[in-house]
Amino acid sequence: MAAVLPPILDPLTDAAAATWSDALAAKAGPEARLQDKHGRAITDLRLSVTDRCNYKCVYCRTGNEGALYSELPLEEYARMVRLFVSLGVEKVRLTGGEPLLRRGLLELIREIAQMRPAFSAEPLDIALTTNGHLLAGMAKDLKRAGLNRVTVSMDAVDAETFARITRVPGSFERVRDGIRAAQDAGLGPVKVNAVLLRGFNDAEIEAFAEFSRREGVIVRFIEWMPLEEDRSWTPEAVVRMDEIVARLSAVRPLVALPANHTSETARRFTFDDAVGEIGIIAPVSHPFCGHCSRVRVTSDGKVRTCLFSQSDHDLVGPMRRGASDDELRARIRKIVDRKEARHHIGEPGFRKPSRSMVHIGG
Ligand code: SAM
Repeated sequence: MAAVLPPILDPLTDAAAATWSDALAAKAGPEARLQDKHGRAITDLRLSVTDRCNYKCVYCRTGNEGALYSELPLEEYARMVRLFVSLGVEKVRLTGGEPLLRRGLLELIREIAQMRPAFSAEPLDIALTTNGHLLAGMAKDLKRAGLNRVTVSMDAVDAETFARITRVPGSFERVRDGIRAAQDAGLGPVKVNAVLLRGFNDAEIEAFAEFSRREGVIVRFIEWMPLEEDRSWTPEAVVRMDEIVARLSAVRPLVALPANHTSETARRFTFDDAVGEIGIIAPVSHPFCGHCSRVRVTSDGKVRTCLFSQSDHDLVGPMRRGASDDELRARIRKIVDRKEARHHIGEPGFRKPSRSMVHIGG
């Protein structure tokens, strides 16, 4: 059975959708839910709670120690999350740097777990992206604090290859145990994110399929984006979706799964026996900016409207100068309104963003 890719709909390149977005913008008042000028509702907040990381993955970091940006007191993060939730955010993802390094993380999760989405009857969805190194010892407490699920970054299932990528000996076993502990703690379905680099870990595609089937996790391959600290990215090093699909199809016939929701970033697949799940996130070869529902807050309290933004917008400064919640909400609306239409990876004149992934919060 051949895999059928779901169609790519991109409202930003669709003339009819542009009219629809104007109509939506005209309706937006102070009580309306957060959206940008392209009519995209912003429902997904990614908050970096630290700029520090205990891994130095070769495609992400230079190998140097140390954080570049500061951290805020947890009360300030909590206030920011509350503001975004009051504006329509329904999903909060804690990230970093490495979020499990952040002291007080459990209290922050407890606080966020008390919040209720302003425009939905569903509870707030609280997720965390981690390298998994400290997860085995923390999974139960994270669940008790109110975390719903985790995504673990793991770029190889071969222990030696993994240690070469993370530059941390013994990291594979730690992360694998973290994944298992998260499943046991009820933080599933656990997603495992893998960034493939040609000549480095692209031989692992089939082994990852096996890992998904054996461990009961959703493996998601992510195309490498030019968001690294140094200048190592090249288009040739990116392992693209079509190649991944072809390779997986040779393991067993792939069957496409429907998207869970309209802003889903991953194309989802299972195999013909319905065992295992694979997602492919293809921002380079199949951009999905037209569906972007995200906004990010960095560890030092700046709002970023796109991974590829050339600048950010200070939120903590006005907060510390005494801005009221209404003033901050108005500021957030203004920032989000100007969210970039799309990224320009691979186009002439593409400029790398002003921060790399680890300092934005992936
Ligand atoms: N430390 C946590 C972790 O490892 O998941 C959270 C931060 S990390 C920057 C978030 C995710 O970004 C990881 O899954 C990592 O693989 C991914 N990532 C980092 N640099 C990337 C790049 N240039 N392109 C695509 N994904 C990248």
